[in-house]
Amino acid sequence: MNQNAKLKCSFCGVEQSAETPLISGNEGYICSACVELAHQVVNSWGQSAKRSELAETLLAPKEIKEHLDQYVIGQDGAKEILAVAVYNHYQRLINIGQNGSLHEADQTVELEKSNVLMAGPSGTGKTLLVKSLARVIGVPFVVADATTLTQAGYVGDDVDTILRRLVDAADGDIQRAQWGIVYIDEVDKLANKGAGATATRDVSGEGVQQALLKMVEGSEVKLPKGGRRHESGDEIIDTANILFIVGGAFPGLEEHVRHRLKPEKAGIGFQATFVEDPQHTHDQLLAALQPDDLQGFGLIPEFIGRFPVITFLHELDAEALVRVLTEPRNSLVKQYRQLFAYQGVDLSFTDEALSRIAELACDRGTGARGLRSIMESVLRKTMYEMPSNPQLKRAVVDREQVDDASELIVREILGEGEEPELTAEPADSANGSA
Ligand code: ADP
Repeated sequence: MNQNAKLKCSFCGVEQSAETPLISGNEGYICSACVELAHQVVNSWGQSAKRSELAETLLAPKEIKEHLDQYVIGQDGAKEILAVAVYNHYQRLINIGQNGSLHEADQTVELEKSNVLMAGPSGTGKTLLVKSLARVIGVPFVVADATTLTQAGYVGDDVDTILRRLVDAADGDIQRAQWGIVYIDEVDKLANKGAGATATRDVSGEGVQQALLKMVEGSEVKLPKGGRRHESGDEIIDTANILFIVGGAFPGLEEHVRHRLKPEKAGIGFQATFVEDPQHTHDQLLAALQPDDLQGFGLIPEFIGRFPVITFLHELDAEALVRVLTEPRNSLVKQYRQLFAYQGVDLSFTDEALSRIAELACDRGTGARGLRSIMESVLRKTMYEMPSNPQLKRAVVDREQVDDASELIVREILGEGEEPELTAEPADSANGSA
């Protein structure tokens, strides 16, 4: 080769210069512009591979609900709404072309995201539903608490840190994160925070809503540093295809809707006809829910407008709590039985004991959240002594009437001791496992 001949990029032909350095390979050269282009092309291969992977594994809404049924008790309305929203969301992703338009159908049709808002008391399964949903779909997932979020520049979690955590959940794979699910809890408290702002924490809930709004609408966000991978360099994540689900207790929402639906009094004074309040069921109230109702909680209209799908979770009654204790794949009863089985002890619960635990949790008013601490306190003494007592073979949690009060007790059975008088639950444990 002529020593004086200028080196050229083997891809685009640009000549090497001080501004355009070339990387040399075994048989050629490449400039930085072509490296970047190649990077984009390879990324787009990854995207279409991921698309077809998702298309192959995506379940129909009915199947999604069946999976959710394994983990979450009741809440059928919310399960169906979420299953459809998620299915449509991923259908849209699978069919989006490289340039953002649809592959086959009318190129001008642009499907918008259906972010979901879930209202419902604490401990009714909002987080559990979203978590189970992400597991079923197989996409990265992150939970954030709206009350810890602050506007950029203030002390606390910047809204963008949610995206950093999502990328971490995707093992640093930004493309996977861009198809993930973000759940933001307690959004009903965003506004209150503004009202109670102090001099040291002058953080307006509205500012956070604006920041969230930008993210939910779809924007390119520079990721804050500090993740597990890619410690250096600016990373950009596009939030356009991330599914956002927000939740909150929205206390009094039902009453608010009921009040709005109340018929106007026909008049005043002696001539007024008396109009009886119709008793609306929970589902009727839900159906009548309007975005305006949420504004009463201080959410700005633009924010509410970004969540076209709204669903309401029911309070769990004692009967539902018994099912929560026993039925889900990793129910508390199954978890404690496993823990005891590791130590050679067969643990069981009578039906009466289960109902009592559920009643106690109902009294606490924290939904299913209260169940674990009740279980802990009932079993604490047995769990403390069990490792030092190899003779213990069975433990039966039962309910006993002591004077006027109903108490939970644990019957401990040593060796091949006698059977307990009450039927132990589940039935297969009747002969002990040790
Ligand atoms: P929320 O987000 O509505 O406040 P969570 O989903 O965090 O409530 O529920 C707290 C815990 O209670 C969960 O980890 C789960 O064990 C249990 N739980 C709540 N609701 C249900 C339900 N419907 N079915 C099964 N378990 C539930």
